[in-house]
Amino acid sequence: TQDVRRYMERLAAEGVDVVRVVYPDLIGTDRARDVLLEHLPSACDHGLAFCRAVYHTTPQGDVVPVAGGLDAGLPDVSVRPDLSTLAVLPWEPGVAACLGEVTDPATSAPAPESPRDLLRTVLARCAEHGLRPVVGPELEYFLLQPAPGTPTGWRRAPETTGAVYTAGLRADPDNHLLRTLRHLRELGLGVVTGNHEFDGGQYEINLTHSDALDAADRAFRFKAAVKELARKEGNLATFMAKPFGDAGGSGFHLHLSCNDAEGRNAFDDPAGVYGLSATARHAIAGVLAHAPALAALANPTVNSYKRFGPGTLAPWLIDWGLDNRSSMVRIPPERGSGARLEVRLGDASANPYLLIAGITAAALLGVQAAEEPAAPLEGYGYDTAKSALLPTSLSAALDALEADTDLTDILGKGFTTSFLTYKRDEIERFGRHVTDWEFTEYAYHL
Ligand code: GLU
Ligand code: MG
Ligand code: MG
Repeated sequence: TQDVRRYMERLAAEGVDVVRVVYPDLIGTDRARDVLLEHLPSACDHGLAFCRAVYHTTPQGDVVPVAGGLDAGLPDVSVRPDLSTLAVLPWEPGVAACLGEVTDPATSAPAPESPRDLLRTVLARCAEHGLRPVVGPELEYFLLQPAPGTPTGWRRAPETTGAVYTAGLRADPDNHLLRTLRHLRELGLGVVTGNHEFDGGQYEINLTHSDALDAADRAFRFKAAVKELARKEGNLATFMAKPFGDAGGSGFHLHLSCNDAEGRNAFDDPAGVYGLSATARHAIAGVLAHAPALAALANPTVNSYKRFGPGTLAPWLIDWGLDNRSSMVRIPPERGSGARLEVRLGDASANPYLLIAGITAAALLGVQAAEEPAAPLEGYGYDTAKSALLPTSLSAALDALEADTDLTDILGKGFTTSFLTYKRDEIERFGRHVTDWEFTEYAYHL
């Protein structure tokens, strides 16, 4: 409590009177409560009560059963502020945000559906094998402006100007990107660069690399911050995988290396094949071998599978290549401390904790199996004769996850059951929904 008092004094001196305690739920949504500063000690002592469930992302917010949730009568989970993660929100005077630790009050143990704890479990397994994953996230998103009278009510901003690898007023007439970058810097999220992406209104922001849990925390807070900032200006920032049929999707590329016990990059080896260590090559083989199951975590929505396709720069096939952007696992040209994998599988809708947990677990399995990957892709890929296809639907990816017991043994039964239940419910809801496409396709001629 001494500590809490010290934090409170510091916050009060900075003009903060509200602390927003935020945690990621199973699907990566930022769930939060605003705590008045004077009640922070009680929140730290007793935790904040949230209902143990996962909610639909639709505005109706229906509850989906997770084990120990609906079936147990919707009991509490307890969320305790982690004051070491406090950061003043630059765009919201008087408010600081921090992450919360999620526990089951009955056992005081982490709830199995807590993605942050799941990542910790995976990282502990990596540590047992002397590996400390280092991660650099790259995220793309669309910025939308209100468009009253259109089917969705939103349109891309800007709709027509702006080209890939550009910055400035032609790419970003309202300086949204600049404002966002500056706010994110103040928030301490380790943001490095921002630019316009391929499609009108699409942007990419890159975060620096760091320890996997820290990188996941930053990517999680990044997505929430970008959405908040857009909202403040009456816009919508969306990280959904493929919001428009006539534009590319939004990726969540993940740069992965591993430090050894001495803090050296365990993926580098000037004498190794391709200048990569055996550990790196085994990690590549692991990510490729478990890719169908990983898709469930990296591409977690029914919409995600519309991003994949030949010629999209999103992957379509399970392959790897040396500095080859048409492959699923690209090995950037840097070696030495910069030797790493760029896993291009994930889309922006992925829960950062689950994406990172899944990919590091697959890499670890590869290291344990000590298998060499097949030859790298030569030239422009997307040739089904050369490589196997990724799952083409969420349903297929969930089946692959369920069947991949090496991976689910690491992720744990509690998590896997809850995730599969939630996501299969999502597929069922989608299956019942009649789309515009169906009406146009069938109504007139059949
Ligand atoms: N938008 C592409 C994706 O969905 C990536 C484009 C790029 O290479 O930046 O992964
Ligand atoms: Mg990009
Ligand atoms: Mg990239």
